[in-house]
Amino acid sequence: MTDSHRFDPTVLREYDIRGVVGETLAAADARAVGRGFGTAVVRGGGRKVALGRDGRLSSPELAAAVADGLAACGLEVADIGVGPTPMLYFTVCEYGYDGGVMVTGSHNPAEYNGFKMMLGRKSFWGKDIQALGRRAAAGDHAAGRGKVRTQAVMKAYVARLLRDYRGDRPLTVVWDAGNGSAGDVMVALTRQLPGRHILLNAGIDGQFPAHHPDPTVEKNLDQLREAVRTERADLGIAFDGDADRIGVVDGQARILWGDQILAILARDVLAERPGATIMADVKASQVLFDEVARLGGQPLMWRTGHSIIKTKMAETGAPLAGEMSGHIFFADTWYGFDDALYAAIRLLSLLARRPESLAALRDALPQAVNTPELRFPCGDERKFAVIDEVKARLRAAGASFSDVDGVRVATAEGWWLLRASNTQDVLVARCEARDEPGLARLKDALIAQVKASGIAPPADL
Ligand SMILES: [Zn+2]
Repeated sequence: MTDSHRFDPTVLREYDIRGVVGETLAAADARAVGRGFGTAVVRGGGRKVALGRDGRLSSPELAAAVADGLAACGLEVADIGVGPTPMLYFTVCEYGYDGGVMVTGSHNPAEYNGFKMMLGRKSFWGKDIQALGRRAAAGDHAAGRGKVRTQAVMKAYVARLLRDYRGDRPLTVVWDAGNGSAGDVMVALTRQLPGRHILLNAGIDGQFPAHHPDPTVEKNLDQLREAVRTERADLGIAFDGDADRIGVVDGQARILWGDQILAILARDVLAERPGATIMADVKASQVLFDEVARLGGQPLMWRTGHSIIKTKMAETGAPLAGEMSGHIFFADTWYGFDDALYAAIRLLSLLARRPESLAALRDALPQAVNTPELRFPCGDERKFAVIDEVKARLRAAGASFSDVDGVRVATAEGWWLLRASNTQDVLVARCEARDEPGLARLKDALIAQVKASGIAPPADL
């Protein structure tokens, strides 16, 4: 039996496998993911894997098909049921599984679904995913007769989260799970935390009736901000659909972006580990890198992408890393994976031991003006070439820049970034300056570069 399978070419992505259920993704694809990933586990000498799923309506069927594919490779499968992606990662690390598959559409609309994978303790991404696709097409799979059993891990996960809570004074916190898969864990966790906790959208519901579970989009935080105001809370915390990304709102209902959250979390980590490396992606503010240096740490700017960051973190031994998108990774007393529930515990611990409010900590950071993430549509075949052209022009002009991911050009006024997205047909840009006139000049420099490569900037820029 060849058992070969062809995926829709759009679903094998850089960091995960993802598609629209019923259009580009079906149970047959899920089974092929199980077989292809399971084969990688078996050929690496593994025997047992964990499997989790989010609360989407299509997740039970897809998870059952993945389990079937994994078992057909001869693996023992521990099905942990519905929960956040970090709970699956926790299961793999804590119980010594040889890998894990999470069925999740993350922060995407309800009709999407997909798979995030972990081989051993490492992300399974990029070339691994491409190789899985090739193995599936060739029908080149391990074969055996494994079995599937269920394992309840939520209690252990919540207990482990709570073990690292170090607060002194009780806080009032509003939490918003956005009806995502963190809901049950959030309920169990807050029951055992000191303080007053107001829970929003805790019911896991694959239709996401309240709002889209993506805290990087401002309007998705409206309900949380409103509740922080009316409850006079110390802060608000939001999760994306599978809780590997966090959103934070201070006591004045102002949003803190990923780099600001990281700048504040860095205090505790550097107090314990002076001189440690703190990593952030290339989209992060200079304010963050300066703050890490001011606190005595070693700032490290790295490429965007949660799998890339996790891989580099393991290499450098950095105890903390983060991304603008809200992925926060702790590796000092945690396992080094992105876990928004754990990031929340550490943020609460920090705030509950300090006299200053989160708002005051935020205001103490140097202020900068910056653009949100700007996106220029650009074909897949063209986007990396554009970056090369920009680099060549900058070099010819004698400009200095970082090329760790795209180009990040620093001037006396601030910086601008242009990079090719790994997951979409867009060029992504961001600018930051000390004041508005400086920001306007940086934007002009950026626009001149994209125009010189024949790319039209968005009309609203
Ligand atoms: Zn996510």
